[in-house]
Amino acid sequence: MGEETITVDGEQISLTTSETRYCSNCEEDVGSFMDSTCPGCGREDSVRVISEDYTERGKFLYYGTGTIEDMAEALEKRAKFLRVMKENGWERRGVAGDDYSRLTKTKEGL
Ligand SMILES: [Zn+2]
Repeated sequence: MGEETITVDGEQISLTTSETRYCSNCEEDVGSFMDSTCPGCGREDSVRVISEDYTERGKFLYYGTGTIEDMAEALEKRAKFLRVMKENGWERRGVAGDDYSRLTKTKEGL
């Protein structure tokens, strides 16, 4: 577990990152599999790559909003947050299949 603070429109936002193990072949989050076979793609010589990632979720984006305008503002605020993340060296990993989106720090950003 790690922590990073970014500033969005003057507001400090703390991010909690967590260690992620993913397959170098399929980029699937593979958890802590003990042998060298990836449970995602089945590759036998799969290499686990470990990084400190941040998980962005869309599920609660509209939490607490009561109007369409509130919803639009929530999206605009989140868009600013994501653009600041990008400026700070974070990039998207994989393609979303649900409301979880994993962001990882690029080498340039470390
Ligand atoms: Zn794999």
